[in-house]
Amino acid sequence: MLKNGIKMTLMRNFSFFESFSEYFVYLCARKHDTLLYMIDTSVFQDKLAAYYTLGCKLNFSETSTFGKMLQEMGVRTVQRGEQADICLINTCSVTEVADRKCRQAIRRLVRQNPAAFVVVTGCYAQLEAEEVSHIEGVDLVLGSNEKAHLIQFLSDAFIARERKANDGAAAFYREKTKDIKSFAPSCSRGNRTRYFLKVQDGCDYFCTYCTIPYARGFSRNPTIASLVAQAEQAAAEGGKEIVLTGVNIGDFGKTTGERFIDLVRALDAVEGISRYRISSLEPDLLSDELIDFCAHSRAFMPHFHIPLQSGSDAVLKLMHRHYDRQLFADKVLSIREAMPDAFLGVDVMVGCRGETPECFEETYEFLRSLPVTQLHVFPYSERPGTSALSIPYVVSEQDKKLRSHRLLTLSDEKTQAFYAAHRGMQAEVLFEKATRGRAMHGFTRNYIRVELSPADARPEFDNQLIHVRLGDFNHDKTALRAQLAIPQTQSQL
Ligand code: SF4
Repeated sequence: MLKNGIKMTLMRNFSFFESFSEYFVYLCARKHDTLLYMIDTSVFQDKLAAYYTLGCKLNFSETSTFGKMLQEMGVRTVQRGEQADICLINTCSVTEVADRKCRQAIRRLVRQNPAAFVVVTGCYAQLEAEEVSHIEGVDLVLGSNEKAHLIQFLSDAFIARERKANDGAAAFYREKTKDIKSFAPSCSRGNRTRYFLKVQDGCDYFCTYCTIPYARGFSRNPTIASLVAQAEQAAAEGGKEIVLTGVNIGDFGKTTGERFIDLVRALDAVEGISRYRISSLEPDLLSDELIDFCAHSRAFMPHFHIPLQSGSDAVLKLMHRHYDRQLFADKVLSIREAMPDAFLGVDVMVGCRGETPECFEETYEFLRSLPVTQLHVFPYSERPGTSALSIPYVVSEQDKKLRSHRLLTLSDEKTQAFYAAHRGMQAEVLFEKATRGRAMHGFTRNYIRVELSPADARPEFDNQLIHVRLGDFNHDKTALRAQLAIPQTQSQL
């Protein structure tokens, strides 16, 4: 299909890219069912691109997919010391600090690559498209719907630039939140061994402090069949571990009428993938059926990440969360009963509006009493347009810091106790590539970080499941030391 630099692109009434093979099937949500679209790939030839990502795993996974798409068009990623022709910045807008970091990153990339064509996408680009378009050096701003059509937008912009048809002002394209319908699929290898498979996007929950539903639109997902195909492709490329990513993963099925548990069952059956982790699941969507399946599954790991946000029912109500603390405790105890060794990560937000000192103490005591493994603590950040701004009680920055510090100390105690309880046990570790002469690191099935000394590290252990005995803490207490030389079939974890 590729002739004289012209790639024929078939556009249909689907909402995602389906393949990058033989011909480029470019799918998007449009009114017309089938359209032929042509992309002049010659505009991409021999170009160099630099990528910068801020925010969550989903963003990193999407950036990696953008990289793959551009590579298909002949674009190479810049190496150190090279100047980029294209800079792509995938932004986050979870807090005010995130917004500021995005602006700094854009300005830095513009400064470092003065001749580059600069594209900004992601949540900050969706929420503040006009503001971003005014940052000096930015050429193109793509919102959440438009980023799925990056190649088309870039090709059109390059052609316009060559013809000097634009007026030098940055263009921005952004749909209203309610019209964000496209699903840009993504299954990409991160920097290390894991693949990140995007199974869902958007959110219908509208928690009062959160801007994500405005930035990413309503909940939507691709079919189970297409996700299984992507997992099979990852296995064919040698991938062993896949992390399921999304905004509100447990809400999977809104588009297709399928169920998350059926996706999990189908993925579990994919040959070659030894490990799956679910990046995060809302407690009200973590079903007993799923817990039971994970406890007996071949490849779903005993590792859960559940957002609590607050252990005070009064605050959960103000946040418009869909559960109370009792439901959360029940889920944690069900997981513990079914998988006594499971790693249990919990998100907690401190200092949101309405969190009085008494509410915070309730949260602290609740978490102290629960058998969880690690806390991810986020200080509340005021976001324009959110309904939390109408709650009158405001927590000072100083109190937010003190509360964060107390929870982080509690988290360290819990994580270290969890690690310490595993010393002396045998475990299966998936090791990650190490620099020559340095220690190798990897994770057990239940997400304990393990360190293999430089003397024992071998290049052939990269991306391999190796059985070890877990020893004592490493020097900075971020991992357990691994001892080799146990029969390679005997691990327990
Ligand atoms: Fe935001 Fe709540 Fe949706 Fe999570 S569940 S993305 S916090 S609105």
